[in-house]
Amino acid sequence: MDNHCPVCGYDFKEPVQDSMICVCCGTQFGYHDSVKTHVQLRNEWRNDGSKWHSQRVQPPLNWNPEAQQRHTGNFDGGSVTQTKRRENHSVSAKKAA
Ligand SMILES: [Zn+2]
Repeated sequence: MDNHCPVCGYDFKEPVQDSMICVCCGTQFGYHDSVKTHVQLRNEWRNDGSKWHSQRVQPPLNWNPEAQQRHTGNFDGGSVTQTKRRENHSVSAKKAA
């Protein structure tokens, strides 16, 4: 059972249901995702800086919105791929040095 937000990948630790609001990206299920796709909502959230939505619930320790999005299942890979490239680059640079 996948309990991650389909928009931002946040782990709800319980099944996602209609009318639930994601504390991370602010998506209200059955409402926001009835007029837009999860990819559209994710892109909007990302374009707004991947901000933590909730004022009452604090983000998890060491919260990483980019890493979290891998749990969405249809993540486009953009920034994660870039991060991987940077890591690979620094690794090969170390080897060369
Ligand atoms: Zn979310």
